[in-house]
Amino acid sequence: MFSLPSFYDAIYDYDDAEYIIFGVPFDCTSSYRAGSRWAPDEMRKACQNFETYDYYHKLDMTDILVHDAGNMDTAVAVDDVLEELYDDVTAILRDGKFPIMLGGEHSLSYAPVKACRDHYAEKTDGEDVGEEIAFLVLDAHLDMRTDFRGLTHNHACVSRHIYEDLTTKYATIGVRSGPEEEWAYMEENKIPFFTADDVDERGIKDVVKEALEALDSDKIYLSLDMDVIDPAYCAGLGTPEPFGLTPRDVREVLRAAAPKTIGFDVVEAAPEYDQGNAAILAAKLMREFIFSREAGKRRS
Ligand code: MN
Ligand code: MN
Repeated sequence: MFSLPSFYDAIYDYDDAEYIIFGVPFDCTSSYRAGSRWAPDEMRKACQNFETYDYYHKLDMTDILVHDAGNMDTAVAVDDVLEELYDDVTAILRDGKFPIMLGGEHSLSYAPVKACRDHYAEKTDGEDVGEEIAFLVLDAHLDMRTDFRGLTHNHACVSRHIYEDLTTKYATIGVRSGPEEEWAYMEENKIPFFTADDVDERGIKDVVKEALEALDSDKIYLSLDMDVIDPAYCAGLGTPEPFGLTPRDVREVLRAAAPKTIGFDVVEAAPEYDQGNAAILAAKLMREFIFSREAGKRRS
């Protein structure tokens, strides 16, 4: 299933680890330009540049139980990939570990979110509906199409399917792109969304506080679509969209939300379209996520 482990500071074996990082080099439904399949390995390379110690959190990455399981062998058809991914993430959750997925494209997120939903639902006396998990997504795009280019699980549809099939505890930050119908769908269903302009006007701390209050959950799956960030900072994206968030905005969301999470992914970086910026940022933000969650755990 997995091959090629290599994250520099992910020094623990699977059995000893709490955080399981795995890459899914799949970008077959990408609509504008493909290339996110190269992100996991470029992120691994970028990590070699970072110190293991983090001054802000006063933590060292080598003291945190992180394992890199390498990359999944991916099929060509998105439905097959999602099925296998669901099984892999379910196994990670049943082993009591925390999944961190490196995409790959955004359509992939459906599988780990479903695995988390089913896993946490299972825990309540065999009742299928159990405790609903929440989904917080950072994305330039609404991704609320029902289908796109003949595919249900196109990367432009991932949020719609998560909202309709998996959890209505849903919020999105940094959005600024979508057809009129998608904005109307958000408003009709009173789905909390915070545009990049909202973040600019109100400040990220205020926005993330309101988003977390709206979700009201300590079982949040957090999905970071890298195109939420302004392409001035990283043009290496499948679908870059100007007037986005700053890397600091995103870091602030990770710091605030990570302690309440049950799963995390970083998707849609496409490293060949810039000079390494997207891979470096994606790698740094993944590390920030781990440090933030760990710091939250140690505080409580
Ligand atoms: Mn997306
Ligand atoms: Mn996007």
